[in-house]
Amino acid sequence: MDLRYFSEEHRLLHDMVAEFSRNEVEPVAEEQDREGRFPKELVQKMAALGLLGIPIDSKYGGAGMDTVAFAIAVHQLAIADASTAITMGAHTSLGCMPIYLFGTEEQKQKYLPALTSGEQLGAFALTEPGAGSDAGGTQTRAEKRHDKYVVNGQKAFITNAGYAGVISFTARLFENGEEVGITTFIAEAGTPGLRLGEPEKKMGWRASDTRAVYFEDMELPAKQLLGEPGKGFTQFLKVLSGGRISLGALALGTTEGAFRRALKYAHEREAFGKKIGEFQGIGFKLADIATELEAAKHLVYHAAWLKDQGHNVDREAAMAKLFASELAMRATTEAIQIHGGYGYIREYQVERFFRDAKVLEIGEGTSEIQRIVIARQLMEEAGRL
Ligand SMILES: Cc1cc2nc3c(=O)[nH]c(=O)nc-3n(C[C@H](O)[C@H](O)[C@H](O)COP(=O)(O)OP(=O)(O)OC[C@H]3O[C@@H](n4cnc5c(N)ncnc54)[C@H](O)[C@@H]3O)c2cc1C
Repeated sequence: MDLRYFSEEHRLLHDMVAEFSRNEVEPVAEEQDREGRFPKELVQKMAALGLLGIPIDSKYGGAGMDTVAFAIAVHQLAIADASTAITMGAHTSLGCMPIYLFGTEEQKQKYLPALTSGEQLGAFALTEPGAGSDAGGTQTRAEKRHDKYVVNGQKAFITNAGYAGVISFTARLFENGEEVGITTFIAEAGTPGLRLGEPEKKMGWRASDTRAVYFEDMELPAKQLLGEPGKGFTQFLKVLSGGRISLGALALGTTEGAFRRALKYAHEREAFGKKIGEFQGIGFKLADIATELEAAKHLVYHAAWLKDQGHNVDREAAMAKLFASELAMRATTEAIQIHGGYGYIREYQVERFFRDAKVLEIGEGTSEIQRIVIARQLMEEAGRL
């Protein structure tokens, strides 16, 4: 991407994360994936570089930068390893952001410095076994009893949950037997009644931690309620909108990592006395991926920039995530094709990118849900034509 788009501060961050990604992440990515090993050491190194709170105000220990900067960092990490990128991305956009956006000053002071310094990781538990795309169908129940809440329910597929010090989650709030609506709460690791499932065995993002979270008569003091009672639905839509920019940036990195390998291979591998990249059939594949990657970068960074200008980016974030994640799937498929049989072998690593790409079309709203968000906005606008 043409770095002239970015400020001097963005360029410095880009160069630092690109170097870290190349020198520290890349060498361990294949092994972490093979062993399904959570990148604990890399988390500490990212913390030391100030990468665990990029868009959070410096008064809470963050870097005080913007969404564009955060997207740059996720993108660069994912060029080497999607698992490391999602660990940092989910920690920031899902772990820190709900507290940063909706927390009281006391909650922010209590939780954010530990999160931005990497002393603790953050997670956000919205999905349930029966409520994924239809997150409004949340069944987890929080009952107000005197000055505390008693929570029962189950969450599914929660990124970072096994290593998180803080988990924000949604539940249906009941007061005096009356339903108040979906509400967000903060649970600290180790709270009695909070139980974690075993790590899921996944196709991709294998070094990232994903597991179920169970609430079994978990008691939370009243001060653990996050934001306003009954406002959980609008809160999580806002959190997901930012999260979709993060996932779009992750898709850029996944595409770029696979593309670089495919390009290099097309330049080295010979068949019929020529570099395979000189065959039109391969050259056109490379041209298409390069062009679409450029388009995806514009969508993702444009959505990030608009968000930083204070605009509502529901549609732009959905478009960026939709296009970039579906590109990642196409590009990683072609990267394997360009490698021929070697693409199917672990050593060449494009199969890792292919496995890591698929979930991008599922997490933080499936491609179908992104299309629903976009189409709904289009129909609203159509009414004003
Ligand atoms: C690795 C991983 C990490 C994750 N991390 C987190 C996390 O940190 N926190 C969290 O809360 N969740 C997380 N998730 C959950 C993720 O957000 C959900 O899996 C996703 O939203 C889809 O929900 P679902 O799996 O229940 O699928 P469903 O909602 O059951 O969807 C099944 C299929 O039906 C389609 N569908 C559903 N409704 C419609 C409709 N109205 N129109 C058309 N098609 C529709 C979907 O697009 C999909 O193709 C993670 C998931 C994975 C796999």
